[in-house]
Amino acid sequence: MFVLYLVIPCYNEQEVLPETSKQLLEKMNSLINKGKISDKSRIVLVDDGSRDETWKIIEKLHEDNPLFQGIKLSRNRGHQNALLAGLMTAKDYCDIAISLDADLQDDINAIDEMVDKHHDGCDIVYGVRSARKTDTIFKRTTAEGFYKLMKLMGVDIVFNHADYRLMSKRALEALEDFGEVNLFLRGIVPMIGYKSGIVTYERKERFAGESKYPLKKMLAFAFEGIASLSIKPIRLITTTGFLIFGISLLMLLYFLIRHFTGATIQGWTSTIVSIWAIGGLQLLAIGVIGEYVGKIYLEAKHRPKFIIEKYLKD
Ligand code: UDP
Ligand code: MG
Repeated sequence: MFVLYLVIPCYNEQEVLPETSKQLLEKMNSLINKGKISDKSRIVLVDDGSRDETWKIIEKLHEDNPLFQGIKLSRNRGHQNALLAGLMTAKDYCDIAISLDADLQDDINAIDEMVDKHHDGCDIVYGVRSARKTDTIFKRTTAEGFYKLMKLMGVDIVFNHADYRLMSKRALEALEDFGEVNLFLRGIVPMIGYKSGIVTYERKERFAGESKYPLKKMLAFAFEGIASLSIKPIRLITTTGFLIFGISLLMLLYFLIRHFTGATIQGWTSTIVSIWAIGGLQLLAIGVIGEYVGKIYLEAKHRPKFIIEKYLKD
């Protein structure tokens, strides 16, 4: 029978953890009783350097029931790194791991179906949101726009899939070989290959606490995703450069004709406009290239993505 590890990153989640742990425990017990998973299965709660009582709650859960394990990161490293810390730890003990958020916005009843899909031979099963009724219009349009933009930039991601997914041991081992520091899991996982499947579910509302992803973090995350997986923005700059150069040649021709036909122009407007336009474009281009250079800088340093301070296991 398969050993299933649930991996849940938690950042300041003291409001949701008591309820979340209760529901997950029920789910795990029912899966174990149905004989779908082994009783060696565990729930791994990763504390991403929370400043509230999150770690205390995790320690208590672990004490009361060894089904719960806890990983404490040395400091806050963000959702993706916390998730990876959990997955890479689970990899050594489990046959399959499912990652999900602490707020249970992703319907845990989809877990059954994910496990079934794995039994049918899928190494990776993506949880896909069928509807976003409970999200605000703003969140919905920005989120869906983000998936479309990613596609446009040539990044292969599964539409409306976030980080709710099942991965087999060998898929996790393959993920480990992707050594990048700029981590954007949902863009990297499809690169692994292997047989994959999809399970759809309805995304729910966060039942307590508040979102740890304000607009600023969301935009940074989106840009991170594009810049770490696509070089289209750089190509775009090159294309624009060529275009502008072409236009300037035509302009030159036009001005020479005007010059020789005797109609001298004042010239101020066109000069000032081009100075600003070209200047702006150059700054933009340098900025985008700078982003990539920055990324290379970070990759070259090979810093650890996370540092585990404690691992509570049986
Ligand atoms: N999270 C984390 N580290 C962070 C921010 C968030 O581990 O720095 C976790 C958080 O505890 C939750 C998950 O990432 O389990 C998703 O966060 P949230 O539900 O706030 O995001 P949203 O669903 O609003 O996009
Ligand atoms: Mg959430």
